[in-house]
Amino acid sequence: MPTDTGTAPVDTEPSAPPGPRGVEPEQLGFEGMPERLFTCTPSKLASFEDCPRRYRHSYLDRPTPQKGPPWAHNSLGASVHTALRNWYGLPAQRRTPGALPTLLRATWVSEGYRDEEQQRAAFQVALGWLEGYLAGVDPKVEPVGVERVVGAKTAVLALSGRVDRIDRRGDELVIVDYKTGRRGGDTDDARGSSALALYAYATAKQFHRTCRRVELHHLPSGTVAAHEHTDASLARAVERAEATGRDILAAEAALNGGADPDLAFPMTPGALCSYCDFRKICPGGADAPVRQPWVAVEAVLDVTDRE
Ligand code: SF4
Repeated sequence: MPTDTGTAPVDTEPSAPPGPRGVEPEQLGFEGMPERLFTCTPSKLASFEDCPRRYRHSYLDRPTPQKGPPWAHNSLGASVHTALRNWYGLPAQRRTPGALPTLLRATWVSEGYRDEEQQRAAFQVALGWLEGYLAGVDPKVEPVGVERVVGAKTAVLALSGRVDRIDRRGDELVIVDYKTGRRGGDTDDARGSSALALYAYATAKQFHRTCRRVELHHLPSGTVAAHEHTDASLARAVERAEATGRDILAAEAALNGGADPDLAFPMTPGALCSYCDFRKICPGGADAPVRQPWVAVEAVLDVTDRE
């Protein structure tokens, strides 16, 4: 998990909490293979790829450095995702539009908004997204999984991740990922998403069934961006994930060996810094424009107002 609202590059995908001090140091076996697999989620790998320093703060530093305030777009994304999960938790005959306000209200996350007025506006917008999206969904069709944790082992990784929804289409399984940001993504995004590819790989392994198709379902626009993977493209995604896993293990081994943390896990300053929870304690984020926690939601509401 997971989501994302507006321009903010923040992943709201629920991810497995890191263990104390992250992973154990790698121990190499006789043939150069790790004896222990690197336990990770797609979001954990992406965190390192985006910025190794942010990865260190998130997964290794204990106690975890104090984060900035909660982001409203994360609250909005989480609220919509939970309402969709709970909608599928109802018996099919109760999956009606009338059930949605109660579902959304029951697990609404209120953090990060500018004020009550903005929060109320966001609630109405989110309700509209859910009503519009679910109007095109057959409530009698049971997904294979909803917020389903899937996992698979490779030569290097013990991968796991929570998939928003797994559908069955004919004999094959399909990965569905909900998007609630201002921009929904296109087929390039669906093709290029490492997380979706890894979900498809893990789902196929876990269910012993073909799973190649991945879909981004953008609730604000009602559009679907899809990509059909091949065995080769899924294998490439796994190879990339393994390469990242090896890089993380090497950085952690260096850190545990006494290396300077800033060298083992260097900063990668860029546009992400404005949305980084650790910006205040990182020199790399010093010059990044300050964003208010509700900025991405404000953008979403502006777009909705103009439509
Ligand atoms: S502020 Fe920027 S450079 Fe610093 S940890 Fe966050 S993303 Fe990395």
